[in-house]
Amino acid sequence: MSVTDRCNLRCRYCMPEEEYVWLPRSSILSFEEIARLVEVFSTLGVDKVRLTGGEPLLRHDLSHLIELIAANERIRDIALTTNGVLLARQVDALKAAGLSRVTVSLDTTRPDRFQAFNRSAKFASVTEGIARACSVGLGKLKINSVVIRGFNDDELVDLLEFAGEHGAELRYIEYMDVGGATGWSMDQVVSRDEILETLSACYGEIAPLIDQNSASAPAQRFSLPDGRTFGIVASTTLPFCRSCDRSRVTADGMFYMCLYSDTGLDLRELVRSSASDEELAAQIANAWRGRTDRGAEERASMRGRGALYQVEGLRSDPHREMHTRGG
Ligand code: SAM
Ligand code: SF4
Repeated sequence: MSVTDRCNLRCRYCMPEEEYVWLPRSSILSFEEIARLVEVFSTLGVDKVRLTGGEPLLRHDLSHLIELIAANERIRDIALTTNGVLLARQVDALKAAGLSRVTVSLDTTRPDRFQAFNRSAKFASVTEGIARACSVGLGKLKINSVVIRGFNDDELVDLLEFAGEHGAELRYIEYMDVGGATGWSMDQVVSRDEILETLSACYGEIAPLIDQNSASAPAQRFSLPDGRTFGIVASTTLPFCRSCDRSRVTADGMFYMCLYSDTGLDLRELVRSSASDEELAAQIANAWRGRTDRGAEERASMRGRGALYQVEGLRSDPHREMHTRGG
């Protein structure tokens, strides 16, 4: 569930422009509307919810939404993906409300690079957020790092060490040609295999971890000879569409069954009409059953692959933006 399309950073792989077309405020779902949707999804078998954005901690009193979702007994896991800037001051309330896990996105261990890449001087706030999240004892903290050649591919080891020092597990994310990544090109992608090669040159033999409970999880997990673990999300070079069971709802209630799809189901219209929960569930189930998306696989098979959209395409429909769709 994306709870806002607004963000307090401007990561160059996600929000590189000066100006954006924002979702109208009146279209943004209220917490009660989001909780009702979660309730309906849960009757269809959904038991994990991830809150994302934009930057979800910009949404006023996010803890209240977590409380509403946590009251649903079918939901056994509530996760948050955040850039971490506002995490330190909110983490106690988030945990008390019922948050299960946090993933913080951080692509560099160097404040000057953070300034250049995320267009913010708030590096120290992010590291403080990470430290606070570890200290309050939420489930295992994850750090997401998008790896881009020529920017942070010389920090693969530093990022892993940083995560370990902060009690977190690192996820390297291959740079994806999604939404706002208008400057994307294949030569900037550092593949899973390259990441493994660099790490094994430093640490020695790396073993894949087989976790039967997470066959549909996007990250492949690995362990170092000393037992430390990390993950790689190889959506660009090794897409996992066939095992993907995720879907996403934008802050204004568009239901997309693939990060790459151009068409979705307008749940806001249904929620704000007199549709019953049963009618909502039937529409969602119907859309999910009819799903044929293989977005990342189709992109991987393209010759001369470039960015998915240019700025004009994004402005004509802001739902195409990664910061609208949620990561
Ligand atoms: N603002 C929050 C954050 O940064 O964690 C949540 C939203 S953000 C869109 C969710 C995730 O998408 C982040 O981990 C971010 O690094 C990732 N992401 C955004 N654009 C990406 C791209 N072009 N390729 C790979 N990952 C991307
Ligand atoms: Fe960066 Fe997340 Fe904001 Fe995108 S939504 S600009 S990834 S912090």
